[in-house]
Amino acid sequence: MAAVERTLVLLKPDAVARGLAGRVLQRFEDAGLKIVGTKMVRMDAELAAKHYFDLEERFGKSVFDVTATFMQSGPVIALVLEGVEAVTNVRRLVGVTFPNQANPGTIRGDFAHTSKAYTEATHTVAANLIHASGNVEEAKYEVELWFSESEMFDYQTVGERFLF
Ligand code: ADP
Repeated sequence: MAAVERTLVLLKPDAVARGLAGRVLQRFEDAGLKIVGTKMVRMDAELAAKHYFDLEERFGKSVFDVTATFMQSGPVIALVLEGVEAVTNVRRLVGVTFPNQANPGTIRGDFAHTSKAYTEATHTVAANLIHASGNVEEAKYEVELWFSESEMFDYQTVGERFLF
């Protein structure tokens, strides 16, 4: 059922280090998504394992290892965004996993360009700037993993009654 949803977004270490936080956040705000939680976090191995709990099963140990190491290489900015069908809407704004396949106009398509072939040949991570929950079930798990209730805020945005 179509509904107002919450989704987890991470500005990965590459986005933070490249100074893209403002421009990335602007895109979500421009789309009318509401920030209900945000914080800067240095991930540890335990959080990486919980966050990417199925990555090894999906793609093998080496993909999990490079991704977990990368995610701990610098701070991330975590966000909980709220809006109508926020999970799929945020994924649409972020673009597909490998930036060279992500459409222009998406965050990954506009701010990164690396490819699956390069990533796999070099055994590096697909540096793609953003994590966004993949589906509603994943969003629920990830929002609870990253944020306590007291870290999320109830307020009304000026545009909310028009944009939602
Ligand atoms: P998405 O972040 O688009 O939902 P996945 O859930 O499939 O993508 O993968 C999680 C993250 O793991 C990706 O964003 C990317 O950083 C990394 N990753 C996925 N596949 C590979 C791969 N083949 N090689 C290196 N890193 C990968």
